[in-house]
Amino acid sequence: MGMDVYGKNATAEVGGYFRNNVWWWHPLAEFLTTTYPDLTAGCIHWQSNDGDGLDAAASVALADALDRDLASGRVTAYADQYAAELSALPDSECDLCQGTGLRTDAIGREYGYDKPRDPDTGKGGCNGCAGTGRREHFGKSYPFDVENVREFAAFLRHCGGFEIC
Ligand SMILES: [Zn+2]
Repeated sequence: MGMDVYGKNATAEVGGYFRNNVWWWHPLAEFLTTTYPDLTAGCIHWQSNDGDGLDAAASVALADALDRDLASGRVTAYADQYAAELSALPDSECDLCQGTGLRTDAIGREYGYDKPRDPDTGKGGCNGCAGTGRREHFGKSYPFDVENVREFAAFLRHCGGFEIC
């Protein structure tokens, strides 16, 4: 699943279409709406595929702000802070094995995930956590980086208004 963002009156190829999968779109939209609440206010439904969006003038105004902040390092600072917050998230207990590393439900027993993992063959152990009992925090599934912002800024500048579908 992803977010397809269509330019309504593109003035260049880059403004015709922008796509992020949901994992990438969520942090990008969060960044935009929290950093530029006034410039993004023309679109209510940033986080859903309802066809909401900004008009041409608002898109260019947001592109101007993004280009300014890409140049000044403000976006980089946000990305660094975001990465630091993600890396500080603790691992979670694996929900398939309740943190034991051994999966004892019917599927686990059928496939041998209920036996300790053999370090030589890699066989056995819970398949949700490779037998460790721990999984990465869910928040780490949502990446954010400067390059993604740069790509969206280029789209915004040339989209002629957009809708999120
Ligand atoms: Zn597990």
